[in-house]
Amino acid sequence: ENYDLHHKYVNRTLAKVLGTIGFDKVYARAEGSYLYDMDGRDYLDFLSGYGVYNMGRNHPVIRKAIEDVLSMDLPNMVQMDCALLSGLLAEKVAEITPPHLDACFFCNSGTEAVEGAMKFARASTGRTRILSLAGSYHGLSYGSLSATHNAQFQEGFGPLLPGVEKVAYNDVADLEEKLKQGDVAAFIAEPVQGKGVHIPDEHYFPAAQDLCRKYGALFIADEVQTGLGRTGKLFGFQHWDLEPDIITMAKALSGGYVPCAAIVTTRKIYQGVFSRLDRCVVHSTTFGRNNLAMACGLASIEVIKSENLVENSRVMGEKLMEGLRALASRHDLIKEVRGKGCMIAIEFQQPRSLKLKMAWKAIHKVDKGLFAQMVVSSLLDRHRILTHVAGHNMDVVKLLPPLIIGQKEIDRCVQGFDDVLQ
Ligand code: PMP
Repeated sequence: ENYDLHHKYVNRTLAKVLGTIGFDKVYARAEGSYLYDMDGRDYLDFLSGYGVYNMGRNHPVIRKAIEDVLSMDLPNMVQMDCALLSGLLAEKVAEITPPHLDACFFCNSGTEAVEGAMKFARASTGRTRILSLAGSYHGLSYGSLSATHNAQFQEGFGPLLPGVEKVAYNDVADLEEKLKQGDVAAFIAEPVQGKGVHIPDEHYFPAAQDLCRKYGALFIADEVQTGLGRTGKLFGFQHWDLEPDIITMAKALSGGYVPCAAIVTTRKIYQGVFSRLDRCVVHSTTFGRNNLAMACGLASIEVIKSENLVENSRVMGEKLMEGLRALASRHDLIKEVRGKGCMIAIEFQQPRSLKLKMAWKAIHKVDKGLFAQMVVSSLLDRHRILTHVAGHNMDVVKLLPPLIIGQKEIDRCVQGFDDVLQ
């Protein structure tokens, strides 16, 4: 019934796509790493709201923070004035990011943070061109969509924002070529690319950052998905000791309750946007800095730190990848298991045996992404494990478990894959 209502009133396409990952199910309750259906059966959540529930679902500390704020009768969203809690969260964000980043703009979604970061880059540098990587995902509003170099999302929505250009993935020479042409305000990148879970060669990001400095372009790290422990470091850029000029954050900052996002940057860039004497530049949003969102952000960071979730993400992510890699000796369908921390992909390939090869080809003839969808559906139907396909037309299943998982959840996932691939 829920599925029918959604299909009728909300979004047909989404309902159809999500139908393959359990959208026709009604979950009555959620706690930690599990969802429960009406009959009390548990579903292991290796999807985490696309990377939101780093701290697990319905975390008591975050719920308590919301209850506390609600019980205080605070003025909320005083708009032209200061909301009570935004200073505290901004201070906390400055504390957990590198020292040169001490200015924070709060907004409501990852897309909005990216959109604002692109505007900040243009306004503070006075330049116009913005570069982003092939295969990237930065959001779906016009600015961020223009940086999302993915035909699946861009097709049918043109013309897109002028001045936003694609650079080849993992290709230092291409980036330099584009920077050399001049007028580049910023290069924006996901430290680990969400669609497909791609990680560039070790030298790529340090070289890219050096090139940005050389040509006077800002480096924006889109940490919407990789931030707050997802990749086994607090931020993805820390894997390469980078010093981005702007960071975007969202998803886990919300604690899974109230949308909360941030653009974090240097005082100089911030002032280059908001304090220019030669013109009045305005960037603003109604719901940004509302007390509930700020309380969620503060509680979320507190839980991630106090429960040591960054370290748990690294350790459990390694164990999960080890377990999945061990399956490759029995299943030549597995091409590669890759990832960082609890952001993991398992990529499939055409198997060697003649019989399976024919089945593989038949499936791919129907739809290039069908095999991964079949794996996702079977994991759900046979083992009650929620996963998702990593992107359009890919033979890749993506795992984004909550960072609180332990050996029990890892074993269930690895055994699930073993059975489904068999
Ligand atoms: N940037 C990245 C790296 C993302 O993963 C996402 C969401 N998947 C976004 C931006 C957009 O965030 P939102 O859906 O909150 O608008």
